Amino acid sequence: MPRQQPKAPAGGASRPSGPAPCVLLKPGEAFLKGRNRDRFEQRLHDNLRYALRGVGGSTWIKSSQNVTVLGGQVPVGELVERARRVIGFSAVEPAVRVPSTVEDIAATVLDALDGLRARRPGLTFAVRARRRDKDFSLTSTELERYVGGVVHGTLGLPVDLRDPDVRVSVEVGRHETYVSWERHKGQGGLPVGTSGRALVLLSGGYDSPVAGYRAMRRGLRCDFVHFTGAPYTNAASVYKAYALARELNRYQPAGRLHVIALGTAQKQLAIAGAGKYQVVAQRRLMVRAASALARRTGAEALVTGDSLGQVASQTLTNLATIDEAATLPVLRPLLGWEKQEIIDEARAIGTAPVSVLPDEDCCKLLAPGHVSTRAQLPDVQRVEKRLDMDEVIEGLLRAAQCLRPGADDAGGGDATGLPAAAGPVCGA
Ligand code: ATP
Ligand code: MG
Repeated sequence: MPRQQPKAPAGGASRPSGPAPCVLLKPGEAFLKGRNRDRFEQRLHDNLRYALRGVGGSTWIKSSQNVTVLGGQVPVGELVERARRVIGFSAVEPAVRVPSTVEDIAATVLDALDGLRARRPGLTFAVRARRRDKDFSLTSTELERYVGGVVHGTLGLPVDLRDPDVRVSVEVGRHETYVSWERHKGQGGLPVGTSGRALVLLSGGYDSPVAGYRAMRRGLRCDFVHFTGAPYTNAASVYKAYALARELNRYQPAGRLHVIALGTAQKQLAIAGAGKYQVVAQRRLMVRAASALARRTGAEALVTGDSLGQVASQTLTNLATIDEAATLPVLRPLLGWEKQEIIDEARAIGTAPVSVLPDEDCCKLLAPGHVSTRAQLPDVQRVEKRLDMDEVIEGLLRAAQCLRPGADDAGGGDATGLPAAAGPVCGA
């Protein structure tokens, strides 16, 4: 009886004796070509292994000429689901591994299309073959014609080379061949960790989680820092930041979330007469504390969700005044994005349902009615001089809490988990 895909996974990574399900993972950018190839691939596989934690069965990973092959004693759908979260793969294809013989290949394609036509009678198809093994007895074109002929002759399905309903891909290797007919989009980007580490300033809004995700897509492994208005605000923003970091950690080996209570320092700035410079002074406090924290935890850059001109604190003058307080580069992946683009991406990566929840944002605490759009450095420094800034920063870091959102999840957790317990700053 023809089958679409065998249910029980057969064998391990070794040569298949019959059809066995697996998943093909195609790297995105040209990073697998250069001198960094081994390092990048190793990182990609480490991240894939991390994403497979707790999957509930043994798995194996192997490289085969620019393609990663994943298999194991786990349903293919689950493997696809996990692999699709791993940054660095642009395509994820459920596939069947078969011995590299013309008969095995034709029988597998026939099985697949027979299963598909049951759900969609009269579908059109095309076979696209690629030979990685040039010693194979047929050329790619000959193989395509032969297999297409078998399917057409047996099942009567029409071939459509231009715009088929199903495009069957056949990748012929020396010992095994991969047959696939379904293609899912992967995350793309560079493997997390290949560009170093960054610390994301994570508020409860839409922007900063998307900025963090974009930073990860450029290969940065991210930790997070969230500032609360405590003791003058409630814990809602911490729960949100925790849920957001947990959601973002689905795309990388879990990063830490540091929580810093800024309320008292904000009040000190207000008492010092910050007035219309209060918001910019607070943001300078944030990047100052984040820079110090980043140095202690090994991050080489800060990431924020700023988008130029989106709100009053994000004018060019204000951003420049804020940056002056940072001792590390401040990366702003969303600088040129429109709000709707950011919200669309927040929906796509799963952070939007958390961002939309209400909270008490520390930025609104003590915010003046009029926020200066042109906060010049000397204006803000005049206020800051009334505080012992080193001591303030030291105090903030001393009281910081370190959480590990999603670190203990056996993968696939939802975004509703709340912090169980907070510990002191990690890596300090
Ligand atoms: P978001 O949607 O990310 O909250 P926003 O549009 O509200 O951004 P701002 O409030 O000016 O803009 O914040 C700009 C950036 O500063 C944020 O994207 C974030 O990176 C950082 N930031 C703001 N508030 C906090 C906070 N409470 N904790 C950590 N970072 C923050
Ligand atoms: Mg905000």
